[in-house]
Amino acid sequence: MAMSLKSLLEQHTMPAAPELVRDEGDGVVRCLACAHRCRIAEGKVGVCRVRFNRGGQLRAPAGYVAGLQVDPIEKKPFYHAFPGREALSFGMLGCDLHCPFCQNWVSSQTLRDDEAIASPRLVNPQQVVDLAIKRNAPVMVSTYNEPLITADWAVEIFKLAREHEIVCGFVSNGNATPEVLRFIRPYVDLYKVDLKGYDDRSYRQLGGTLKAVLETIVGLKELDFWVEVVTLVVPGFNDSDEELRSIATFLAGVSADIPWHVTAFHPDYKMTGSPRTPTPTLIRAYDIGKQAGLRFVYPGNLPGGVGEREHTCCPACGEQLIRRYGFYVQENRMSAGGKCGQCGYQLPGVWEDAPPRQSNGTGRPAPVGL
Ligand code: SF4
Repeated sequence: MAMSLKSLLEQHTMPAAPELVRDEGDGVVRCLACAHRCRIAEGKVGVCRVRFNRGGQLRAPAGYVAGLQVDPIEKKPFYHAFPGREALSFGMLGCDLHCPFCQNWVSSQTLRDDEAIASPRLVNPQQVVDLAIKRNAPVMVSTYNEPLITADWAVEIFKLAREHEIVCGFVSNGNATPEVLRFIRPYVDLYKVDLKGYDDRSYRQLGGTLKAVLETIVGLKELDFWVEVVTLVVPGFNDSDEELRSIATFLAGVSADIPWHVTAFHPDYKMTGSPRTPTPTLIRAYDIGKQAGLRFVYPGNLPGGVGEREHTCCPACGEQLIRRYGFYVQENRMSAGGKCGQCGYQLPGVWEDAPPRQSNGTGRPAPVGL
């Protein structure tokens, strides 16, 4: 099965964007799409297994999706961008990391793990954009697999999406290069980074480095993306006070306005024997984030279980502006453009002038057909 999927994926590629490849001579290419910077000889594949060198040309995935849904934007999660609205979400296949707790492993570990069997659907960019228009989704997001390794084709879709004033985003592990961030910046405004811990040895077990992800977060802010950061709090992996404090202190040093989502782990993939994250652990992470100076910390994946902490409050006057239950916006009391309805304070984020006062949908993902 993995072999036939491999051949199918090899057929659905495009030449890598020139900005994401460097010719190293003798038919060898260097891929710049993620921080691995693979040097790939003729006939070989990169660490992600979906970008490969054919005839001295770097080929990148194109022309299919492996996941296509309308999700509440809060599921991405973006809490400070278009609250209550839906995001047309598409994913391809593959990842440059191999986290044992991955919650999208069926899409991400394709070609690496024989049990990860996802089915691609052939589509063209116009079909994806038409779907967003039909669903009245103001946002489109590349997600489910690692979007950096499939950035070339995401940009083809986003170019069309922007003609319809659709705002585009990446939901990513942050293992980026300055080259790929500059490449996507004209088309991507929203960027969610997973910061999976603050220990380089742990990061190397997942297949990356801490330094690359920290540099991405700094680089994203310098390039003026709207950035939200997620840490999946995994018991025994990254839930010590010390590690959570290091993450929060780093983020606050980049910008106290970065929303930090501390989300609950549920047993998945190769960590089915590990316990769920207890609620007190998430509340502890929330307190650590606030003590470090972060103004917006959101415990996630425990709807209704963390009191008022899943709401957005005005940092100036304390007014409760957005009340949530999980991914569902129960009430949005913000004024036009993201101002506090009480004191007029401008909240950081990407806001609408006339936002929905409640979630447009049910607050649950919905598969969509083409
Ligand atoms: S995307 Fe990353 S892992 Fe894949 S080929 Fe390029 S540098 Fe290597």
